[in-house]
Amino acid sequence: MTSDGDPVLIAGGGPVGLLCAWLLGRRGLRVRLFDNNAEPQADPRAATTHPATLELLAEDGLAADMARVGLVAPIFQFWDRPSGELVAQFDHALLKDDTRYPYVVQCEQFKTAKLILDRLRKMPNVEVLYGHEIIDVSPSDESVAIDARGPGGIKSHAGSYLIGADGGRSIVRKQCGIAFDGFTWPEQFIVLTTPYDFEAERGYCYRSYFADPGAWCNCFKVSADGPPGLWRTVFPVIPEQTETDIMSDAGVQSRIQSFFPSPRPYEIVHRNLYVTHQRVAETFRKGRVLLAGDAAHVNNPIGGMGLNGGIQDAANLADKLAQVMLEGAPDELLDLYSRQRRTIAIEFVQEQSIANKKRLEARDPEARRRNLGELRDIAADPARARQFLLRTSMLASQKRAAAITLAPA
Ligand SMILES: Cc1cc2nc3c(=O)[nH]c(=O)nc-3n(C[C@H](O)[C@H](O)[C@H](O)COP(=O)(O)OP(=O)(O)OC[C@H]3O[C@@H](n4cnc5c(N)ncnc54)[C@H](O)[C@@H]3O)c2cc1C
Repeated sequence: MTSDGDPVLIAGGGPVGLLCAWLLGRRGLRVRLFDNNAEPQADPRAATTHPATLELLAEDGLAADMARVGLVAPIFQFWDRPSGELVAQFDHALLKDDTRYPYVVQCEQFKTAKLILDRLRKMPNVEVLYGHEIIDVSPSDESVAIDARGPGGIKSHAGSYLIGADGGRSIVRKQCGIAFDGFTWPEQFIVLTTPYDFEAERGYCYRSYFADPGAWCNCFKVSADGPPGLWRTVFPVIPEQTETDIMSDAGVQSRIQSFFPSPRPYEIVHRNLYVTHQRVAETFRKGRVLLAGDAAHVNNPIGGMGLNGGIQDAANLADKLAQVMLEGAPDELLDLYSRQRRTIAIEFVQEQSIANKKRLEARDPEARRRNLGELRDIAADPARARQFLLRTSMLASQKRAAAITLAPA
């Protein structure tokens, strides 16, 4: 007997797990989600939500709500930090015939999570269990059982399927023996958040990328608690200093001052250090276990594609799982989910995020001249700029995924 009467279990209440719960819950499926934190987290990670992702969040006005609590950013810029030259500017308005959303929305991921959670709380068929850590996963052909440690001790739960949306260190992926090949960058990435107004003081737009030999910076604005908002700067940190030195007041001032000299010290309201990897799971599906989001793929944040990829996984997976569970669609649809999304993770997100980093950090003067010259030329030609934007907005990769179909029977 199969377990299709049991709920879909979801490991992880980050934005990807919550979105899976919402999309499945909207289709009437029973869902039980577990997150080990006592409550939703508010760490300053993803913010940039691309047009292709906004297209998937239109249901129930979610994308509109994200724009309301976040910032709408139609343009982004590339700067050469040593010369101070604005090298290239791209305007999503060029995509006005390609998408309903010719802009990105800068919405901190905890706000997106909260908007989804508010919707989930109204769904009687969805249970969200904070303070519950999944400690064991036992899949079989007919069902999936997990053990979760919660306030009342360890309890077993049976599910029809299990979605592992439990982040880069996913216990679901590990316990199912799914390899996570790739590499870890030797440098860490530091995020320094400041109220300093880079637009008013320096003329930078809400998403600005800076090239510098051997270094780089992403500088972008988030709405935070409302106007005037905050700016996040992301820098690489070569592991020469101790973490204490890197994170000290003197350490963070010297890092931000070396890039953006200012006569006054910067007010730093958050400082966070991240180890960053480029890895993709060997499969996103093993029997009744499915992986999505960082549990399935991780990449550096330049270009802001990690969570976007995770949201695209969630939408793709929820659609197919609902077809299998509610409409008797063939089980191979779940293999198709893995093929479609894994292909995009490898061919697009990994490739693009690594290329983005190399372009900004190039040391060789000839390579720098070529990289920046290419950006300048693309931006100056509307047809090439549109093609460039179709990639950065992830519309091209969504189209590529849709072209991967079930093999003929
Ligand atoms: C500095 C930085 C900037 C970034 N900027 C962007 C950006 O602009 N755009 C973008 O698209 N992406 C960006 N990213 C990437 C983005 O933050 C991640 O891709 C995103 O958080 C993935 O979401 P997730 O829900 O898959 O995983 P997570 O957010 O990691 O959530 C996983 C959840 O599972 C829980 N969990 C883990 N183990 C268990 C367990 N055993 N039992 C129960 N619960 C468990 C965790 O506590 C967590 O709540 C950035 C990342 C960094 C570091």
